[in-house]
Amino acid sequence: MKELEERILSEGRVLPGGVLKVDGFLNHMIDTTLLHDMAVEISRLFEGCGVNKILTVEASGIALAGMAGFVMRCPMVFAKKSRTSNISADVYTARVQSFTHGNTNMLMVSKSYLSDSDKVLIIDDFLATGAALIGLRDICCQAGAEVVGAAISIEKVFQGGGDRLRSEGLRIESLARIASMTDAGLEFC
Ligand code: 5GP
Repeated sequence: MKELEERILSEGRVLPGGVLKVDGFLNHMIDTTLLHDMAVEISRLFEGCGVNKILTVEASGIALAGMAGFVMRCPMVFAKKSRTSNISADVYTARVQSFTHGNTNMLMVSKSYLSDSDKVLIIDDFLATGAALIGLRDICCQAGAEVVGAAISIEKVFQGGGDRLRSEGLRIESLARIASMTDAGLEFC
């Protein structure tokens, strides 16, 4: 998506460890017009697939997933990373290694909000090694829900997760695909 690629080029900052910082428009301050355009594009890509629920993980996936849910007229569920007092004890769980923080999180989704009648679109802000996507797919599997595919804002193709999951048959649509990224700059596929 041209608009997103241009913003990444003008405002993205490459950090050590293959991390891209996009806090000025996606991850901290959010350009809501850009986010809406991205959600419309995701809706177009998955039109006719019968999606009735969107699943993401807190915190950085929520903004785009919520906007996509609004555009696609379906509810959005986000996996929680910590057990708060108001989450039910009856949860689907998946253990996921965090790419940016290096720690392991237990993703949790209440069994009330995902079931075998759901056709789920998974949405996340970044795709790197694929760990977050695998965790969310696993939670859908536990619920017996069908995963229609995944929509990602920014895929770092050189980190391999996307190719691995596509080879397993998961449909992944990424709005920007970064082929390489160094201090000197980045290149899209
Ligand atoms: P994966 O699980 O595919 O290795 O990484 C995806 C998750 O890690 C996303 O949920 C995202 O929040 C975070 N992440 C991975 N790479 C980056 C990055 O370059 N920049 C930012 N801001 N987050 C990232």
